[in-house]
Amino acid sequence: MKIVLAQPRGFCAGVIRAVETVELALEQFGAPVYVRHEIVHNQHVVQDLRDKGALFVEELDEIPRSAVTIFSAHGVGKDVEDQARHQGLQVLDATCPLVSKVHNQGRQYAARGYQVILIGEPDHPEVIGTLGQIPAPVVVIRTEAQVAALTFAQDTSLAYITQTTLSVDDTHSLVEMLKRRYPKIIGPDTRDICYAVQNRQTAVRELCRKVDVVLVIGSPKSANSVTLRDIAEEAGTPSYLIADGGSVRRGWFDDKSSIGITAGASTPEAMVEDVLDTLKRIFPLEIENLPGREEHVHFRLPDGLIARQ
Ligand code: SF4
Repeated sequence: MKIVLAQPRGFCAGVIRAVETVELALEQFGAPVYVRHEIVHNQHVVQDLRDKGALFVEELDEIPRSAVTIFSAHGVGKDVEDQARHQGLQVLDATCPLVSKVHNQGRQYAARGYQVILIGEPDHPEVIGTLGQIPAPVVVIRTEAQVAALTFAQDTSLAYITQTTLSVDDTHSLVEMLKRRYPKIIGPDTRDICYAVQNRQTAVRELCRKVDVVLVIGSPKSANSVTLRDIAEEAGTPSYLIADGGSVRRGWFDDKSSIGITAGASTPEAMVEDVLDTLKRIFPLEIENLPGREEHVHFRLPDGLIARQ
């Protein structure tokens, strides 16, 4: 069986920073440290950090006063920041800087009097955090039907912002539809939202041109992993979203001679190895790495932590 590995795949700079934040907090402050929400949406990453002494909670009420507390890469609203201050928590903010950038864009548009439209999944923690960072009403949309149903007058000052991890093409077509309805709407270039999402989506499209079936390794909770699976399906390549090698099913590869593999931005490379180990037990493998785009993005650690030498 031929295996083709997408490039880039797996951890992005925001996830590396978030995981390193928890590990360094454990080293520098000692266990336990508290993490609000899953630090990134991957059960293996979460379990590994749990084993090292991190405690994951959904609400700050579950955290004792003045404890070391980490906000996940998805970001939080102002209400959560205020509550943390009120409880005297020692906060390390692992919000991805590219998510913080969206918060800033939204706040600036609102401060200039624009009605902000946020393109995103209403229940996703990143969207909930972004809504909580903008001190004005924001409309969340995710579908063309919702764009069609907007009732703003043509002279309303409108601005859009977007969730970082959606399909770049879907987001682009929603923005184009918004621009057709409201030609004066302003907002950032959708192709500049997140380099990692853009690169992984480009790579999975390339992969689909070369293989019979695609395995996307990641959690169903991980928006960017789900999007990679959807893009492969839309390209006409059967595609499966799996957590690890244990989820692989032999029947997916009947009559197939090549398998493409990619991984969401929150998936550790160890899970790619795990899937390859499973496939090796089924077939002899010939492995090819696509050249793809190299990434050299690195984000500074949150204030309050000392980097490893
Ligand atoms: Fe940040 Fe992009 Fe990674 Fe999300 S996918 S954590 S926005 S770098």
